[in-house]
Amino acid sequence: MFTSFLIKYAEIGVKGKNRYLFEDALVRQIRYALKKCDGTFAVSKTQGRIYVDALSEFDFDETVEQLRKVFGISGICPVVAVEDQGFTQLGKDVVSYIAATYPDHKQTFKIAARRARKNYPLDSMEINAELGGVILDAFPEMRVDVHSPDILLHIEIREKIFIYSVIIPGPGGMPVGTNGKGMLLLSGGIDSPVAGYMIAKRGVKIDAVYFHAPPYTSERAKQKVVDLAKLVSCYAGPVYLHVIHFTDIQMYIYEKCPHDELTIIMRRYMMKIAEKIAVDTGCLGLITGESIGQVASQTMHSLAVTNEVCELPVYRPLIGMDKQEIVEISEKIGTYETSILPYEDCCTIFVAKHPVTKPNLGIIKKHEKNLAQEIDTLVQTALETKELIVVEG
Ligand code: ATP
Ligand code: MG
Repeated sequence: MFTSFLIKYAEIGVKGKNRYLFEDALVRQIRYALKKCDGTFAVSKTQGRIYVDALSEFDFDETVEQLRKVFGISGICPVVAVEDQGFTQLGKDVVSYIAATYPDHKQTFKIAARRARKNYPLDSMEINAELGGVILDAFPEMRVDVHSPDILLHIEIREKIFIYSVIIPGPGGMPVGTNGKGMLLLSGGIDSPVAGYMIAKRGVKIDAVYFHAPPYTSERAKQKVVDLAKLVSCYAGPVYLHVIHFTDIQMYIYEKCPHDELTIIMRRYMMKIAEKIAVDTGCLGLITGESIGQVASQTMHSLAVTNEVCELPVYRPLIGMDKQEIVEISEKIGTYETSILPYEDCCTIFVAKHPVTKPNLGIIKKHEKNLAQEIDTLVQTALETKELIVVEG
């Protein structure tokens, strides 16, 4: 019965020039999301509203599921569109709508009519009153409540007449592409895909970098990261995933530096390399899944030492969250099942039994001098042999 959707979006902060940028990006992201659905759709922007019209048969549930992944949408209203064949017919259409949508029809209701076409013979107040009467006649157990109705029935008079009352919540946030681009350090864990999701939700386009350490990390571990990037891209749009071969750098650090500082020094090189790729690809910041105190390399002291290598801002959206809260988001967005697959991670291969939890920047820098001879060449080689995988959800 539904043939269209009215897309609601939060308008706060979307004034003036920003408004059309926001709306155009939202239209673009909706079109992208619907490409994954069966059926053809027209997405249009008219009079400050965005509509999705089905031009063919389509699967309602699948379409709603896709729309619920488009950041910027606050609500999805399934719409019944009827031809204008006079007011009596409209009354019948509204009665059929209520009968189909609310089978027990005992609710309170209010009608909110809106004339986008002023040549309609009745004005909004008259439509509200007349249709209210028609509904009460048809469903004697229903009552009008203008203050807090169970059903707020919208009637929009356009070329066709739109009838809707259901609002399916959208994900909120801002359309991807309205807020620049960030480089996500994506590992195979639980945290970093959630971090990418959260920053994408604020309108940021996401590229990603994964540090791969074959043969210590397997092809399956890499595939897991590709799969996670794919899941993130269901929300964030296409993700350019850069895979860096990190083994030689890791081995060199292992050989030259104290083992309790290995993780922290390795993290500093990951950030350095990620920043280089970020700058080359126009990203405005790095994004990680770090959270204070989660592991030794994420104490305040360790984060300060890791951060010191970067000039770009580093966004850590999970910084104040408990693991359980992060797990809940990962379950909600569908990355959890993939994240917990048991493939090794390059950070866990060489970890010391007792990594430093309060690294001293001066001492770390002194030990990094042990790397002077070859590290620049190794970093250069890693960048030159980087592999690019374009991932679409
Ligand atoms: P995650 O669950 O995201 O792997 P974690 O709790 O395992 O995080 P760490 O291994 O210390 O924590 O990594 C902290 C952050 O560093 C990750 O959230 C991610 O952003 C980045 N990171 C770690 N390992 C890699 C890797 N191999 N490739 C890319 N980024 C990585
Ligand atoms: Mg990890």
